[in-house]
Amino acid sequence: AELLADHRHAPARPAQHAGVMVANKYSETELSRAIEHGQMILHYQPQVRMADGEPSGMECLVRWRHPEEGLVYPERFVSLVEDYGLIDALTDRVILLATEQLRSWRQQGIKLPLAINLSMDTLQNPTVVERLQELVEASGLTASDIVWEVTESRIMRDLTATLTALSRLHLKKFAISIDDFGVGHSSLAQLRDLPFAELKIDRSFVHGAYADQVHGAIVEASARMAASLGMICVAEGVESPEDWAFVRKAGCTHAQGWAIARPLPSAAISSWLERWPVDFQALNHAARTRA
Ligand code: C2E
Ligand code: MG
Ligand code: MG
Ligand code: MG
Repeated sequence: AELLADHRHAPARPAQHAGVMVANKYSETELSRAIEHGQMILHYQPQVRMADGEPSGMECLVRWRHPEEGLVYPERFVSLVEDYGLIDALTDRVILLATEQLRSWRQQGIKLPLAINLSMDTLQNPTVVERLQELVEASGLTASDIVWEVTESRIMRDLTATLTALSRLHLKKFAISIDDFGVGHSSLAQLRDLPFAELKIDRSFVHGAYADQVHGAIVEASARMAASLGMICVAEGVESPEDWAFVRKAGCTHAQGWAIARPLPSAAISSWLERWPVDFQALNHAARTRA
């Protein structure tokens, strides 16, 4: 159970000194050391095809194993890492860990592609495409093993550079997923111009959409648009049988979320794969009886 737990909802540790609750600001030195010294680790969250439950991939999600604070989640440090200009170092580290893990899974016969998060900031670097390709190839993997999930976390300084990098990644046969669809600055115009393979609807729209007319309409419209553009549509944040039933009916082809699996340490993935077919039946059954 310890292995499977996502501790985010455990009682929060006071951010800093007793009394004054300040936003926890980590220093540049602290973060750069953490990246250098191997304190960043990955958890993996399965994605499945809704029609038959077939596992379709895994997303790797970074966590900081902080020497005093325990596991720190990316919402507390990724944008700081961007502010400090350390995002390339973090991305390289994540790719290294992810590709090593994927290679070891391949040896065990687990063939799922891996989704890696990229902040758009990274894509403004003129040498980024070569670097990403090198990192993947150095690990003995190919473009078809990887899906890049891109999120627009801030207004982009150089839209052209970013769009060029995305097109070039596509030419190199990498799949690109537009992450957090509906909440970023990603516009419909970019969807039209770019060869995205996948659209991921942000979990803030997905969870509870069955009981919220506006969110429900957004999920349905996004799924329809993805389908007519020939894109895979992943619903993230599927937490309950009700969510599962709703996004399936709305036309999402794939799903990710706690109802399927929490983000898991790599060691827990093979037992999830064994258990999932049974859980899938149970989830479908619960969705039919409750929806
Ligand atoms: P994201 O890429 O949209 O990832 C999905 C987030 O939703 C993850 O949070 C995941 O744990 C959480 N999640 C998944 N299923 C459910 C669910 O059913 N319910 C709820 N409430 N949450 C769910 P996490 O791991 O905290 O990551 C947050 C964000 O941090 C990610 O959002 C991504 O934008 C960023 N991130 C994570 N890893 C990396 C990384 O290696 N590099 C970069 N640049 N960003 C990363
Ligand atoms: Mg993502
Ligand atoms: Mg997302
Ligand atoms: Mg999200």
